[in-house]
Amino acid sequence: MRSDYCGQVDQALIGSEVSVCGWVHRRRDHGGVIFIDLRDREGLLQIVFDPDRAEIFAQAERIRSEYVLAVKGLVRDRPEGTVNPNMPTGQIEVLAHELEILNRSETPPFHHDEHAGEELRLKYRYLDLRRKDMMSNLLLRHKVTKAMRDFLDREGFIDVETPMLTRATPEGARDYIVPSRTHPGTFFALPQSPQIFKQLLMMSGLDRYYQIVRCFRDEDLRADRQPEFTQLDVEMSFVDEDAVTGMMERLIGHLFKAALDVDLPKQFPRMSYAEALDRFGSDKPDLRIDLELVEVSDLMDSVEFKVFAGPASDPEGRVAALCVPAGAGLSRKEIDDYTSYVGRFGAKGLAYIKVNDLDAGLDGLQSPILKFLPDDAVAGILKRTGAKTGDIIFFGADKARVVNDALGALRVKVGEDRGLVKEGWAPLWVVDFPMFEKDQQTGRWTALHHPFTAPAVGDAEALRADPGNALSRAYDVVLNGSEIGGGSIRIHDQAIQSAVFDLLDISKEEAEEKFGFLLTALQFGCPPHGGIAFGLDRIVMLMAGADSIRDVIAFPKTQSAHCPLTNAPGEVSSEQLRETGIRVRAPRSE
Ligand code: ASP
Repeated sequence: MRSDYCGQVDQALIGSEVSVCGWVHRRRDHGGVIFIDLRDREGLLQIVFDPDRAEIFAQAERIRSEYVLAVKGLVRDRPEGTVNPNMPTGQIEVLAHELEILNRSETPPFHHDEHAGEELRLKYRYLDLRRKDMMSNLLLRHKVTKAMRDFLDREGFIDVETPMLTRATPEGARDYIVPSRTHPGTFFALPQSPQIFKQLLMMSGLDRYYQIVRCFRDEDLRADRQPEFTQLDVEMSFVDEDAVTGMMERLIGHLFKAALDVDLPKQFPRMSYAEALDRFGSDKPDLRIDLELVEVSDLMDSVEFKVFAGPASDPEGRVAALCVPAGAGLSRKEIDDYTSYVGRFGAKGLAYIKVNDLDAGLDGLQSPILKFLPDDAVAGILKRTGAKTGDIIFFGADKARVVNDALGALRVKVGEDRGLVKEGWAPLWVVDFPMFEKDQQTGRWTALHHPFTAPAVGDAEALRADPGNALSRAYDVVLNGSEIGGGSIRIHDQAIQSAVFDLLDISKEEAEEKFGFLLTALQFGCPPHGGIAFGLDRIVMLMAGADSIRDVIAFPKTQSAHCPLTNAPGEVSSEQLRETGIRVRAPRSE
């Protein structure tokens, strides 16, 4: 049926006969001649129907957008003046001498160039995927997974599948659960990650495992997450941190070279979690933006201004400044907008000082808070932030967590708004995470990574003695402000694993019931091991320059975890409910 893809017909084929198939992208009638842009996966090709060939011309007149055609014709140069340099096939056209309409189409609900709403795009996803940028995102995704597999195969990794119907695998989200028919009243959980299975594979001696695997996490609506997403999941035996991070640097470097022809640094910079929070207010700093948070707590602890003095003398508080070059020209309205922006992160306000003229001393400054601050504190702020004439200094004063979240987000927002984000790629390892953090509500310890991450302290006793200060052997890889992967060296000692479960308030019975098989396995010769998982959707999104991970997933769900195309999730028959021993109590909410 087809000799060439539309998008691949080029000048080398001039004078030859081709058969092409595809969809009618556009039809134009010009002075008795009909032009059709025929589209397939690889691109567009101009087909010309000449009125001299009366029979096929008459057929061509009936053609509408998105009809499916098979065309045979002669490749020729476009006539002088009709060359389209913006189109890869813009030098040539095909003069049709055979036409078959393979299928007709209703008028599509949206046109290719139309900015249709997300619901509509997802409802007619197959039409949305006909668009060039969507198609090229899927092609890019394929290139990336192909390059991953090639690389990992070369480095001796073995692709092993792990169960989808399993027990809970704790990664900090809710499980998706699946009722069992053969054991009514019991449920499988879909894996939040293959974490425990990949560790068990190390215990089996597999040595190097990988899987490009779907993971399921039922999370509250958070920006740009999908309930099912894809990870490259990796585990290695007899390794330390450097072996895992080094392998990942080579892998990511290979992916960027293969998919985008970009050279990344051979080694990515490393930064501790504490430093990342201090300097950028975030554990996934975007290093393309030069702005940094500056600590000023020590300048503020004895000032009379309670808004600053309070957090400055609170051990859990922080007062930090963010100097924005050439920001003194921000309008009242812009500052108000930034104030409500930081409010989303819990900040109660956004104090600022405009540096209108640095040389004019206090008279050159403009700020509602100046009158509350002693001169030496103001001088200290100016010195430490290195502010210049024309800059604005913003402040955050609150619990350190609030200040970091608010100023960390403001740093990125202001950077984007003011064109301060440099071009290119800024990868980074964040290391030395705390083992545990306190849950704000319950006051209990929770694992910052997952409960299988090894502590940096040597033994269970040391860990139990001071869990709050224990660091973990975890690492996250960050790219342009997105966390694209994370992993750790694992616990391979049963005493330490039990201590971690204890500290996480998982009782002996619960540990036994949930992870007994892992604790047992740890008794049978577990090698030291570690690994990482790497978010495929997010990395492809960054590479494609897409705005959302939904744009690089063929059939994603909406932000409320619904699929407008298939209308999932849906109800099941009473028969299915009976078989699985389930009675639905709550009426379905619309
Ligand atoms: N299982 C972890 C995750 O899904 C990654 C890892 O520790 O390897 O985030």
